[in-house]
Amino acid sequence: MSQESLITPSTREQLAELLLAQPCPPAFSQDPELLNRYGQDLDGSHCQPAAIVWPESEQCLKSLVLLANQHGLCLHPLAQGKNWGYGSAKGTAEGQIIVDLSRMNQVLEVNEQLAYVRLQPGVTQQQVFEHLEQNHSGLQLDITAAGKHTSMVGNILERGFGHTDYCDRFSNVLSLKVLLPTGEVIHTGMGCYQHSVAKDIYPYGIGPFIQGLFSQSNLGIVLEMTLALQPKPDYSLQLILMTKYQQAASKMVACVAELKQQGIIQSGVHTASMSRAFGAASKNMQGAWVLTASLSGPKALAKAKFKVAKSLLLKRIPQSRVIMVTEGRLVLLQRLNKWLKLTAIKDLALVMQLKKGIPTDQPLQTLLDDDKANSQMSAADFPANFRWICAVSSAEPSAIETLLSICHHTFDQHGYEPRVTLTNISPRAVILIANIRFDKDPESCAKAQAFYQQMDEKLLANGFCPYRSGSGQFQQYRPALTAEHVQLLQRLKQALDPGGILSPGKYNLD
Ligand SMILES: Cc1cc2nc3c(=O)[nH]c(=O)nc-3n(C[C@H](O)[C@H](O)[C@H](O)COP(=O)(O)OP(=O)(O)OC[C@H]3O[C@@H](n4cnc5c(N)ncnc54)[C@H](O)[C@@H]3O)c2cc1C
Repeated sequence: MSQESLITPSTREQLAELLLAQPCPPAFSQDPELLNRYGQDLDGSHCQPAAIVWPESEQCLKSLVLLANQHGLCLHPLAQGKNWGYGSAKGTAEGQIIVDLSRMNQVLEVNEQLAYVRLQPGVTQQQVFEHLEQNHSGLQLDITAAGKHTSMVGNILERGFGHTDYCDRFSNVLSLKVLLPTGEVIHTGMGCYQHSVAKDIYPYGIGPFIQGLFSQSNLGIVLEMTLALQPKPDYSLQLILMTKYQQAASKMVACVAELKQQGIIQSGVHTASMSRAFGAASKNMQGAWVLTASLSGPKALAKAKFKVAKSLLLKRIPQSRVIMVTEGRLVLLQRLNKWLKLTAIKDLALVMQLKKGIPTDQPLQTLLDDDKANSQMSAADFPANFRWICAVSSAEPSAIETLLSICHHTFDQHGYEPRVTLTNISPRAVILIANIRFDKDPESCAKAQAFYQQMDEKLLANGFCPYRSGSGQFQQYRPALTAEHVQLLQRLKQALDPGGILSPGKYNLD
């Protein structure tokens, strides 16, 4: 059965009948207005689903998967559906059934001794944070800047990154429980054994490393994720470097790579353009780049690391200022700010909050230049559109210079203000995240589309390739992949999802 045929009115009723006939029928909706909201992406595109279902149990999900195989239906799972800038909640093609897992939202276990949490897919960042607080946990969460009500599992499966020492989030996944598109349930890691005392805590298991198959893919629906948490550090401080020199960025990034290789800095380090860090408020500020890193551990160690990092940074980037912000200093600054009225203090507090794993909607407000924006909104409620441009680079200065020159040239050419962050995600690699914010009218969308197309083409042509595409822009990157890689993906998809029921085409798995 073709996917499009499902949205014709006659089969709409058939679909409802099929769902109602399930052993445990899920809640579902075919309300056109709601379908429209789920189909709306922030790049201005739209992809209308056939229905939204809200399963509440594994059994219900399993029968949906079997139903899809029997009747040639396509499912597209969402944790919270807030993949903003990478496709939002839209499926990979029209007429799919969006499987909204937000009602499977239990924090199943927190193990204080071994420092991990076991989660269902619909759990939000705020929920885990509150759970840890209410139970006076000694553990801290790594969070993204996407907001309180975005998911843990969806973001981590997309290999998103956070703001603490555990910033490469997928590398902190310890095990997954997965429903395969053919209906079987498997456990990754030591869960491959019928009995193991280390079931949820040793990701490699034995034999091939399976876990990675379920990230950025459509090879299974993740039912549970076990995630390492960080013991709350005794002491932490923020290192902040500011410079007004545009050319300094490549040196900053290279120096941070060196500090990471030496083990001085462990956290993800973000080097942001002023407009990216402060939004519209940056118009009244001087400066080109602001770098934030977090250093934690026993107080003496964190301070010693700061000293080493500051000295190397100032040696490499003499035209900059490096400051240390601690909890105590921030409180003092906030008090003084009743008179000083510096807008940057609010942003300083935000950095501290993110680095301590406290979810916040403030970055969303900065991105949209809208104080009322919050992460309970869906893409359809956003006052403006945007899409991320992401690209992986080496931390070598020449690569960063080429990358930034492409960005600045393209931003200038299209008349947009450059909003750019460079994140030292590892001791060697850097991820560029750039975006524009544009109005929702067709003319602004077309202008933005031209900008994005040119930027994507130029970046790819120079070897700066994306690390993530969500359900957004996967097809356009296909020609840039090697033919052997695409063939391998196709073989995997055919082997694990012979009925092609799960998000066909996502990340070129079709
Ligand atoms: C202001 C702002 C700041 C942001 N900051 C960050 C940041 O710091 N770091 C970052 O990485 N991103 C960031 N984002 C991007 C994005 O909003 C987040 O990544 C967000 O967490 C993704 O939405 P979600 O958690 O609801 O995941 P979802 O949209 O629910 O899921 C994401 C993807 O995972 C798949 N998926 C979800 N659940 C399952 C499952 N159980 N089984 C199989 N597949 C599944 C979905 O099909 C989808 O493709 C930011 C966005 C904004 C607007």
